[in-house]
Amino acid sequence: MERTITQQLTSATVDFDKPGKQIGVFHVPFSSHDDAWGVVPVPVAVIKNGEGPTVILEGGNHGDEYEGPITLGELIRDLDPAEVRGRLIFIPAINQPAVQAAQRVSPIDGINMNRTFPGDPLGTTTRQIAAFVNDVLFPLGDVFIDLHSGGSSLDIIPSAVIEPGKTPAQHEANVKAALAFGTPVTVVIDNRGDPRTATASAALAGMTVIGTEMAGGGTVSLDALALCRRGVRNVLAHLGVLSSDYATPQQTESRVYELGPKAHVIVDDDGVFEPMHKLGTEVRAGELAGRIHFLTQPGRTPVDLHYRADGIVYGRRQPGRVRPGNCCLVVASPYESKLI
Ligand SMILES: [Zn+2]
Repeated sequence: MERTITQQLTSATVDFDKPGKQIGVFHVPFSSHDDAWGVVPVPVAVIKNGEGPTVILEGGNHGDEYEGPITLGELIRDLDPAEVRGRLIFIPAINQPAVQAAQRVSPIDGINMNRTFPGDPLGTTTRQIAAFVNDVLFPLGDVFIDLHSGGSSLDIIPSAVIEPGKTPAQHEANVKAALAFGTPVTVVIDNRGDPRTATASAALAGMTVIGTEMAGGGTVSLDALALCRRGVRNVLAHLGVLSSDYATPQQTESRVYELGPKAHVIVDDDGVFEPMHKLGTEVRAGELAGRIHFLTQPGRTPVDLHYRADGIVYGRRQPGRVRPGNCCLVVASPYESKLI
């Protein structure tokens, strides 16, 4: 069989078809000043046993989001292959250079990986990594779990994320899997239909897709990490890859929201952002959302910001300092469409 350009240029140290547990890397060529024939080693692990679906679990798409990579590392270390029915492929620090630098985007090319899919095997490092995942791993997968958090600039209500399906059947599977994750709040996020996210690309490849947003602020949240640990196990039990002993039943039904076209409150001024409400507060369009203060001009009246949608305060900018174009707040609105 003819090898694709992605297969020619990248190679994994694990055999994705071999039963048992393997922990290795895939190599993306990176010829730099101090390493002419070097590579970027992206960690990958495979646990395979018997018949069952293949689930691809991704963390570290943004390098400053930690609950997902921690959860995946624990599963890689703790799971015995005998406990698995099917195959788990872990990419816990997919944007390895960004994770090493603790930055949202790669320090090598400055690119946000989650706007590069399906990638480019002849592109920069971030695009090459995305191409390996899209071209080599996605064809192996039935389900894709993409674990994000708010990152350095945002604090977000820990939530499972529903990727809109490309077909009614895929949408139903995505909704069921996201609700199985078991967060009190679940949110439909379509990124305005942008096809360049990992989850959108996985959906186009025909997989069932689940995402998360887990707190943020560039730190590790105790509560979000507990939800993430439980949620990933819940989904794997829902899919039948782990036994139901791994699932922790949800206490209350998840409330489902969506991010509409007016979800984001963007600032026009250069100053310091004062929020009006805590995360989870119910708010209305037109209501006062925050103020921008001008600390070096104490005589200047602060500028008011207003919400543009009805819903709950879902995300909030973490740094107080803002500049024109920064997103200060995100409102999640009740999901009106039919869920399944
Ligand atoms: Zn992210």
